[in-house]
Amino acid sequence: MNIHEYQAKEILSTFGIPVPRGRVALTADQVERAAKEMGGRCVVKAQIYAGGRGKAGGVKLVHHPEQAQDLAKELFGKTLVTPQTGPEGLKVRRILVEEAVDIAREFYLSITLDRGTSRYILIASAEGGMEIEEVATRSPEKIHTLTIDPFTGLRSFQARHIALQLGLSGSVCEDCVSLILNLYRVCLEKDCALVEINPLVVTRAGWLMAMDAKITFDDNAIFRHREYPDMMDYSQLDPLEINAGKYDLAYIKLTGTIGCLVNGAGLAMATLDVLKEFGGEPANFLDVGGGATREKVAEAFKIILQDSDVKGIFVNIFGGIMRCDVIAHGIIEAASEVNCTLPIVVRMDGSQVEEGKRLLTESGLNVQCGDNLGDAAARIVKMLAG
Ligand code: ADP
Ligand code: MG
Repeated sequence: MNIHEYQAKEILSTFGIPVPRGRVALTADQVERAAKEMGGRCVVKAQIYAGGRGKAGGVKLVHHPEQAQDLAKELFGKTLVTPQTGPEGLKVRRILVEEAVDIAREFYLSITLDRGTSRYILIASAEGGMEIEEVATRSPEKIHTLTIDPFTGLRSFQARHIALQLGLSGSVCEDCVSLILNLYRVCLEKDCALVEINPLVVTRAGWLMAMDAKITFDDNAIFRHREYPDMMDYSQLDPLEINAGKYDLAYIKLTGTIGCLVNGAGLAMATLDVLKEFGGEPANFLDVGGGATREKVAEAFKIILQDSDVKGIFVNIFGGIMRCDVIAHGIIEAASEVNCTLPIVVRMDGSQVEEGKRLLTESGLNVQCGDNLGDAAARIVKMLAG
């Protein structure tokens, strides 16, 4: 789960990490008022669930409250496209107005989960700012990493080693040590998958400050933090994903034309692989889980149909806990309700499979049943080609 920069900064601030003075605004008038509070000269920052805003025109220095207001009018409702948003971009609904800080140096600092070692890894670079990915490919030696042992935790000598590698000395170096240790506390106490400060800056006055912040919470830990669901900004999410979440369905959008309804994550992966093998391109996959009901299958089917990229549907379900006739009823119910005329191929197996297939073939829908996974994948690809 992602949150906005201003929310991430509120968290960092409660953990003793210095951030610029700022105020979030929902209207252009609020932006103007906030700009006045900052003394007129301030930075206007579009809040979207993606970085790379600076280069896309989403972060700008202004000198007067009116200028802030004009810029806000332009930004609100605008779709920002950055390297991190994908081509469809994200709409700006909130703006952070911040004091303009005079920056002397910019660094990169983050802690994230390293799946390879199953540990938190700290990543730091003296070449912070807007293009850390480029630094990583161009000059990887400028990126310093430290894998954190979960039993000993992060020790101050390790944090100091990183601060020295960043080229800091004296009191700023010591401030950086406490900042790094505090950042690790944020990770642990807030159950983060990622905490990123880019840039972390040294101001002209010689202070350390987090100038940008990104936090991703570990979805598996949301139940431990009752405040997290309220922090979510639904305007930043795919509406189909929100809908799937309501029915406890896992929905993932992809780029092809075949909608896939499956049960179980493993089967979903196998389904995508086999479809690709036969030249098909999945538009999405929707995992209804182990013991789905007829209603859940129907909802899942409707969500897939709302994706306008979908030109055909591939159902691959193993009826172990689920009965195939129940699945068939769910599909028929949903497809008739929304008048679905798209080609559908169903591959199912398990209990009541014959009854399930009979219901589908007699339903009057544009549906075929596959004998096995390969046969079914070949059928849907052929139906779409025809
Ligand atoms: P993004 O990473 O999405 O491009 P940032 O918040 O990192 O957005 O802003 C881009 C750049 O704008 C930063 O690298 C920094 O140089 C500058 N910047 C951001 N906030 C401020 C601020 N409050 N004062 C001065 N400069 C800022
Ligand atoms: Mg940034």
